[in-house]
Amino acid sequence: MWDEYLFPRSVDETLEMLALHGGEARIIAGGTDLAIQSQRGRVPARVMVDITRIPGLDHVEERDGLVYIGALVTHAQVATSPLIRAGAGVLAEASGSVGGPQIRNVGTLVGNVVNALPAADGAMALFALGAEAEVAERTGRRWTPIANLYAGVGRCTVDSCEAMITQVRFRALADGEGGAFERLAKRRALILPILNTAVVVRLDGGKVERARIAIGPVATTPFVATEAAEGLMGRKADEASIAEAAGVASQAAEPRYSLLRGSAEYRKSMVAILVRRALTRAVAAASGEEGTNANA
Ligand SMILES: Cc1cc2nc3c(=O)[nH]c(=O)nc-3n(C[C@H](O)[C@H](O)[C@H](O)COP(=O)(O)OP(=O)(O)OC[C@H]3O[C@@H](n4cnc5c(N)ncnc54)[C@H](O)[C@@H]3O)c2cc1C
Repeated sequence: MWDEYLFPRSVDETLEMLALHGGEARIIAGGTDLAIQSQRGRVPARVMVDITRIPGLDHVEERDGLVYIGALVTHAQVATSPLIRAGAGVLAEASGSVGGPQIRNVGTLVGNVVNALPAADGAMALFALGAEAEVAERTGRRWTPIANLYAGVGRCTVDSCEAMITQVRFRALADGEGGAFERLAKRRALILPILNTAVVVRLDGGKVERARIAIGPVATTPFVATEAAEGLMGRKADEASIAEAAGVASQAAEPRYSLLRGSAEYRKSMVAILVRRALTRAVAAASGEEGTNANA
């Protein structure tokens, strides 16, 4: 699988190790994706650069209204963080649905993004939140929208043989905003979903001021249903407008036939149901209805 296994102590040392091995070394975090891919010979990496002993990458914190999540934060930590549950419950729900407890205890949110699958649960919520990622390269650090990291199924624009994502950030949901995550899977544990969706809405006087709807896997990357969201703008967030938006999202989604996930027709019609459910819950959370709490 690999010949060498290294433990850098800093981000700079990680980048040096990667550069030294000229494309033959790759970052590993929880290893829940990479160890399997490497075992199957799908991802060549002679040297593994394990970032889990680097201090200062396990933070979940809020600064100036933005929530920052470090590269070593696991799905279990995301799902249970009081800060994320209060300020981005949609993400807590998404990470809480990943695999089983063992996977959530080691798999990281950032690894979920870099693995770049259009069905990734945590990544879907980050799309709905309009998150950004900090990329560390030998030339310096830069922030980029999460959407810019996706180049196709399993293809991340940040090459983990050369660069590293150190953290992600997004604006915490405020009063009048709500989000929700919905998922359809054959079994609850240990499998990527048949479909998932993450939505965030902002209401003003009962009308939709902003909406973002992310759906997977219905394209080669997480799909943002822009037309469906735009159709909601300025409208009362009621059953009729939500059903209409869900229908538009379903029309725009292009799921493929899959032996594991079902026919394209079935999944297309299920998109409408999942989006409707998610929007309904997000609107309830944004309205501060009892029993909902900022979508957690
Ligand atoms: C049994 C099982 C069930 C699963 N179920 C689900 C599920 O329900 N939903 C779901 O979304 N996923 C699921 N997964 C996938 C997996 O757990 C997640 O994608 C996980 O979040 C990956 O994180 P990791 O830390 O393990 O990444 P790793 O496996 O360590 O790395 C994944 C990729 O990211 C790169 N990488 C990791 N960290 C960084 C970084 N900081 N900077 C740059 N590159 C980096 C690696 O080089 C590699 O290419 C499942 C996996 C298994 C094995």
